Amino acid sequence: MSELFPDYRASWETDAHRELRRHAVEFLRKEATPNQERWAKQHQVDREYWNKLGDAGLLGLDLPEEHGGTNGDFGYSAIVAEELAMAHDTASGWVVHSPIVAHYINTYGNEQQKKCWMPGIISGELVLAIAMTEPGTGSDLQAVRTTAVRNGDEYVINGSKTFISNGTHCDLLVIVAKTDSSQGAAGVSLIVAEVNNLPGFERGRVLEKVGQHGQDTRELFFSDMRVPARNLLGAQEGLGFYQLMQQLARERLAIASTCAGMAEAAVLEAIRYTKEREAFGRPLINFQHTKFELAELKAEVLSIKTTVDYCIQHYINGHNDPATASIAKLIAADKGVAIVDRCVQFFGGLRLHDGVPDRACLCGGPSEQNLWWHKRNHEGNHQPFAVTRRHVGTLSRKPTTRASRPSASTDATSEPITSGSSPSQPKPQVKRATSWWVSTGPAKAKTWSGNWPWVAAMAASMASWPCASTRGST
Ligand SMILES: Cc1cc2nc3c(=O)[nH]c(=O)nc-3n(C[C@H](O)[C@H](O)[C@H](O)COP(=O)(O)OP(=O)(O)OC[C@H]3O[C@@H](n4cnc5c(N)ncnc54)[C@H](O)[C@@H]3O)c2cc1C
Repeated sequence: MSELFPDYRASWETDAHRELRRHAVEFLRKEATPNQERWAKQHQVDREYWNKLGDAGLLGLDLPEEHGGTNGDFGYSAIVAEELAMAHDTASGWVVHSPIVAHYINTYGNEQQKKCWMPGIISGELVLAIAMTEPGTGSDLQAVRTTAVRNGDEYVINGSKTFISNGTHCDLLVIVAKTDSSQGAAGVSLIVAEVNNLPGFERGRVLEKVGQHGQDTRELFFSDMRVPARNLLGAQEGLGFYQLMQQLARERLAIASTCAGMAEAAVLEAIRYTKEREAFGRPLINFQHTKFELAELKAEVLSIKTTVDYCIQHYINGHNDPATASIAKLIAADKGVAIVDRCVQFFGGLRLHDGVPDRACLCGGPSEQNLWWHKRNHEGNHQPFAVTRRHVGTLSRKPTTRASRPSASTDATSEPITSGSSPSQPKPQVKRATSWWVSTGPAKAKTWSGNWPWVAAMAASMASWPCASTRGST
């Protein structure tokens, strides 16, 4: 729920959406917020967190019921993306798994592939990642150098990828590769690799970033890695670039929702801190300048929320329109940066505390990566939203109340699971979502069905996509 705007309701938000929001808030406050510091140290979430997400029904929100999903519209994913940010989560690769990569398989996978993989994707037994970016090839996806050469019933894949979210935990990897190196976009295909114990597959370095320390962003290497030819996504080779472009709107909207949540969380932290911290004999919030600042910041948050919700409504209405989705992402990311930057000014010397920019750092394409560049580690005015709950709690007069403190438990090991699944093997057991399903009940879940607009919008012209944008691939 929005604390800044308690009666705020998006045009697309139904009672069922609100119920999901309550459920997500409760789950994340318990399972995500307290673990952030530990996850940041170990550079990954606990593997069992994925299973908990699945058990809570948070991985198949807009995926078909026949595979164990909820069959909701995109609003369900937008809510969880926003609430993850509100819960100060910067570690989870949920956005990559659930609203993004799962839909590549659901949309382009054949029945056999979906039957095999979707249940595990929804239960959390199979963690997803997508490998587009290569060293030296980011936005210009038609120039990828990873090759997939057909050899009998297999593809032999060679190449390397970088910046891959969920790189440590992923069980299924959607690989962007050239099946025809003589072609540009028309030579690109998407191939799903079941990477656990797969000869020729190697997980490289976990990348040290200036933020999002809890995310397992990694390099991946393929060396004569053999993948069954039946794991190609789509009816034929060469559709990969088109498939990638068709998923852009969804990806942009999910990231925009995250940015909206992050901006609101930053302002809430600023309000909390200025109430607690005193200077010159009174709480900071009692100074007129502070009030002006906070009032403007609140207005900016509302402008993000309404813009993003307009674009989500557009998408839910059936327009798989990358340009409108870009508006959401541009406004939410750019304004989010500005908001965070202004919020952090309230924190004085705390803003220079080392290793604490995670609250503000998001992932994906270049506009939200701006958030990183606002971490300027010098004695200037700019540091991102750099104060952790722990620091506020320790140094301010009163303890924080909104979220739980980091847990003392230190289960730092989390080996990737071995799925052993392939279209020819038994499908993973479906773990039915528990608590949320129980409280919601099938009747309400039914009201979410039938709203799957973006599939119908697949025919949208790729030519209209601004692929030459200087703002990058996403
Ligand atoms: C935390 C994190 C997580 C990520 N997760 C994933 C993931 O899971 N999977 C994945 O595949 N990728 C992932 N990425 C990669 C990300 O999505 C971007 O695609 C990638 O960072 C961009 O590639 P690049 O760094 O080579 O920059 P590019 O966007 O390729 O830009 C390189 C240079 O070219 C310039 N440029 C770009 N386009 C133009 C143009 N049209 N005209 C003029 N100049 C231009 C840019 O300004 C820049 O100077 C992740 C990145 C981060 C940081």
